[in-house]
Amino acid sequence: MSENMSGTVSEKNTNELFEKFDQARLKELHIKYDPETQLKAFIAIHDTRLGPALGGCRFIPYSDEVSAIEDAIRLAKGMSYKAALAKLPYGGGKSVLMCPEHINDRRALFESFGEFIDSLGGRYITSVDCGTGIDDMDAISKSTDFVVGTHKDGCNPSPITALGVLSGIEAAVKFKLNKSNLKDVHVAIQGVGHVGMALAELLVSKGARLTVTDINQDALNICRIKLGAKVVSPDEIVSVKCDVFAPCGLGGTINQTNIKDFRCNIVAGSANNQLSEESMGLILHNNGILYAPDYIINSGGLIQVALNKQKQNAEKVKQKTLAIGHTLTNVFERSFSAQKPCNEIANTMAEEILYPDASNDLFDDNKLKKVI
Ligand code: NAD
Repeated sequence: MSENMSGTVSEKNTNELFEKFDQARLKELHIKYDPETQLKAFIAIHDTRLGPALGGCRFIPYSDEVSAIEDAIRLAKGMSYKAALAKLPYGGGKSVLMCPEHINDRRALFESFGEFIDSLGGRYITSVDCGTGIDDMDAISKSTDFVVGTHKDGCNPSPITALGVLSGIEAAVKFKLNKSNLKDVHVAIQGVGHVGMALAELLVSKGARLTVTDINQDALNICRIKLGAKVVSPDEIVSVKCDVFAPCGLGGTINQTNIKDFRCNIVAGSANNQLSEESMGLILHNNGILYAPDYIINSGGLIQVALNKQKQNAEKVKQKTLAIGHTLTNVFERSFSAQKPCNEIANTMAEEILYPDASNDLFDDNKLKKVI
């Protein structure tokens, strides 16, 4: 934290940040500032004991550096938990790049970011996330081998992430609504970008009805014209009366302000960090809304990236991704029998793998061990 990028990371902020390190059990935070290319980047490495930290690269505007770092920490932790529950030999990491108002030379910025990744010697491997695409991964690959999702490797995680979310929605609908298919099931999708759009197409192919929102009008037009979706404004989406609310945009979408407005039976979508705070999971649980923990349901992309690195074929990737539904069913069953929120059950399961020496009452439950 010695690198003070614009004087806004004060000593107080620094102390608070280290507290966040402790809370998240984060191991490393790396910073690079390269004014020549406008690069302001943070790489958070949460844990590497199961393997190198794997996690996407986010390129969006942030109000300040502290918010960007906080996002990186939260996201990196989520990646550790995700890899652990998907039983992959990888740790958790994430990079956050602060998107400037005007980008002078995007390629140069990402090449500079590639040099930054390379300097970590393989402890962090990056891929696509919000605000980045395959061209950016190509630019990163000019400077480092520790990147997945370039045109050359052809590894686009979004379609397989969408398939995993579909499998999770099917499991949730079966558990909560006792329906073995998605015919006429009403799904409200928040954000129809890379994953949300692919999910929308899969859902329609299964007979589901859609309501969607986004801030991108082109994406909404595709949904309306090609998929017969109803379009609502971003403010309206959480209060749509539906079977499944699928957050597929940015994180923090389930929060203190809007949770009272939810009129769905199930929350199941691709977005990372859907709960603004863990306590939102308890409110959903108490309100009878089944929550599919984000880092389980959205692990398809990570599974693909990890298995591709192990040279496994597409069928293996698909089968492991479809198993997300089984993992979630186990979480739902445990949540029901223990009368605890799904996010708490999922965290406990991941922590048992990551911190096997830690004591936790739930770990003593032999039935729960079977889940892992
Ligand atoms: P994306 O940037 O392609 O899509 C996000 C969409 O949300 C965009 O269309 C954007 O316009 C829209 N959006 C932004 N703000 C909005 C708002 N206020 N209201 C409604 N819509 C809004 O990103 P993506 O790759 O599709 O990822 C979506 C989410 O899924 C992210 O949280 C990401 O971290 C997570 N995720 C993605 C993958 C993957 O393979 N891409 C894997 C795991 C998790």
